[in-house]
Amino acid sequence: MNSNKTSAIIIGGGVIGCSIAFELQRAGISCTLIDKGALNREASTAAAGMLGAQVEIHHPGAFYELCQWSQQLYREWTADLQQVGGVSPQYIDEGILRAAFSEEDRLELESRLPWMHNAEWLTSAEMRAIEPGLSANILGGLHLQNDHQVHPVHLAQALQASLHKLGCAIREWTPVFSLIERGGRIEGVRTADGELYADQVILAAGAWASALTEPFGLKLPLFPVKGQCISLRTEAPVIRSTVFTQGCYVVPKLDGSMIVGATQEECGYDKRCHAAAIGSLHAAASRLLPELREAEFVGTWAGLRPGSRDGLPFLGHSAALPGLILAAGHYRNGILLAPATGRLVKQLVLGDKPQFELKPFAPDRTSEHNAAETVN
Ligand SMILES: Cc1cc2nc3c(=O)[nH]c(=O)nc-3n(C[C@H](O)[C@H](O)[C@H](O)COP(=O)(O)OP(=O)(O)OC[C@H]3O[C@@H](n4cnc5c(N)ncnc54)[C@H](O)[C@@H]3O)c2cc1C
Repeated sequence: MNSNKTSAIIIGGGVIGCSIAFELQRAGISCTLIDKGALNREASTAAAGMLGAQVEIHHPGAFYELCQWSQQLYREWTADLQQVGGVSPQYIDEGILRAAFSEEDRLELESRLPWMHNAEWLTSAEMRAIEPGLSANILGGLHLQNDHQVHPVHLAQALQASLHKLGCAIREWTPVFSLIERGGRIEGVRTADGELYADQVILAAGAWASALTEPFGLKLPLFPVKGQCISLRTEAPVIRSTVFTQGCYVVPKLDGSMIVGATQEECGYDKRCHAAAIGSLHAAASRLLPELREAEFVGTWAGLRPGSRDGLPFLGHSAALPGLILAAGHYRNGILLAPATGRLVKQLVLGDKPQFELKPFAPDRTSEHNAAETVN
């Protein structure tokens, strides 16, 4: 395929759609990035920004390897974004301490050590030597030195500034109502502003993606999982690393605030925040870092993670929708997986062999006839 002549439409301007547009524009493919609202106003700026390739994954396999690879791309990717767009995504290379309060949690965490690439077990005293603010009641935990972080709002600004610099066409407040099929291929989209066509259509619409594939018979088990967060501030910094335990994490940001997250609720497209959830997050964070009892409350928000039943994203071509590339369902790890997703989609658009085996993430893996097998 001659990339100079290729054009692409990307549906969805969250971190996934923006990272795909960034890779394609850099490869000489002119993109139109379309969002039903403003760019990056959904899950991608509700996130905490952990690059948790260790902390988030509970067993080895293709997904763990994909997360590892994306984590390795991150430093250079964010440096490229800063160079192109002039905005820093606030990459912080402090790791994560995953603390255990119960014997059961301790055993579960220790069982991950044999297959994890970058993890060590620390005693309670060793954990507290790194982060003295941690509760004396922790039994120890995992030190995950490579699980760094970014600030999702600054990452979004960096992506948007880079896309402007690279000449990407951006259409905000333009809902895509349907995909357009011509001659057995998806070749365009029907929007509030009329029809648009391109050589390649890419669906990166997060928790909303399934609404566009269902009319063509591809029912993706993709659904919103609400996460409520709070932000706190203390007079002096309490931690440098991200600290994480069952039920909550605390991610310190460069402006002195800390993001405490997050609930996991399957309640449709409702993004309201609730006092009880906010209180529980504060209680859990204070149990882990007792100084947070007296912290200043800065704010609260909620976002909708694009969840899938098997926890894996939908990445690649679908037999049900020739011509379409899917990149949705990144659930709890879309910030982490943005650089890998952008790179893999670029390879598919260019007709190159993807650098990573995409079979485990195939969009058709959960189609009606094999759904039972996948869900069980
Ligand atoms: C509370 C919380 C904490 C999180 N913490 C982390 C973390 O620490 N680390 C991490 O890696 N991940 C984290 N995540 C997950 C991460 O935020 C998501 O996986 C990621 O943002 C998904 O990106 P996306 O671009 O697919 O979706 P979104 O950001 O939701 O973007 C999808 C976009 O598609 C648009 N769209 C939808 N339908 C249409 C349509 N028909 N026409 C046009 N546009 C459309 C939407 O308007 C939206 O802008 C967290 C998520 C939440 C909610």
